[in-house]
Amino acid sequence: MRIAFVGLGNMGAPMARNLIKAGHSLNLFDLNTTILAELAELGGHISDSPRDAASNAELVITMLPAAAHVRSVYLGENGVLAGVRAGTPVVDCSTIDPQTAREVSAAAARQGVDMGDAPVSGGTGGAAAGTLTFMVGGSEALFATLQPVLAQMGRNIVHCGEVGTGQIAKICNNLLLGISMVGVSEAMALGNALGIDTKVLAGIINSSTGRCWSSDTYNPWPGIIETAPASRGYTGGFGAELMLKDLGLATEAAKQAHQPVILGAVAQQLYQAMSLRGDGGKDFSAIVEGYRKPE
Ligand code: NAD
Repeated sequence: MRIAFVGLGNMGAPMARNLIKAGHSLNLFDLNTTILAELAELGGHISDSPRDAASNAELVITMLPAAAHVRSVYLGENGVLAGVRAGTPVVDCSTIDPQTAREVSAAAARQGVDMGDAPVSGGTGGAAAGTLTFMVGGSEALFATLQPVLAQMGRNIVHCGEVGTGQIAKICNNLLLGISMVGVSEAMALGNALGIDTKVLAGIINSSTGRCWSSDTYNPWPGIIETAPASRGYTGGFGAELMLKDLGLATEAAKQAHQPVILGAVAQQLYQAMSLRGDGGKDFSAIVEGYRKPE
């Protein structure tokens, strides 16, 4: 299949690689010419603009940083919607607010293009390994078309409902993740300060009612889980800046829905303070450092 892929960053590049590996012909566009050249070596075709990439594509995929980029890549003069043919399926995999996802999809629908949202979880490791989870918002028909292609980049492809529901699923999950990481940090730091061996404490939590992903897979205390970023200086995981962005999306969406997100707002402020300290590039589990005396 000829696929246009726009946005070839930490996530988009490995996803595009998997599609090339699966035998698709890719039209590639990004502002970063180095990554374009790298992917062209693997057989991708470099396009001049999102419009150019989309013009002869049978499917368009985008993976961009935030809502402003999604608006400009789709609605701009040389954007996807200026080039895409009516009837072509389109999916945006960026994490953005549900409202923008719906608005851009409505603009696409006005010219006969069915566009859905499919944000992912699984991080850069999952993107490289082709084991991402895709949370898809869009029509049944669009989901049926997208499913086999998304399955070449991911393991769980879930239809969440109509357009925007993929983004809703993603931001609600990350709201909970941001909060649970703060909770586990507090519990681990308190236990340490009171004098229990943190490995014993983690063992108890992980076989008791406090157990969660932030405690049993990604524990923020160094040395508890060997494969977690906490055990390698909080490098190479899910950056605190990205968590801050996702909590911002959740609190903004909550405001629009007149829905309280009390703990989410507190968590957002904690990650904001972490970012101000210059630690936004660290893995988000380094939030625990705010609860420990520096060594
Ligand atoms: P990134 O910043 O590494 O990549 C974004 C790419 O988009 C860059 O290569 C950039 O040059 C390109 N870009 C920006 N504006 C453009 C434009 N106008 N035209 C063409 N290309 C443009 O970001 P990422 O880590 O790949 O994340 C992408 C999305 O996935 C984000 O919404 C992020 O929240 C989400 N996400 C990231 C992770 C992660 O672990 N990195 C995990 C899950 C979801």
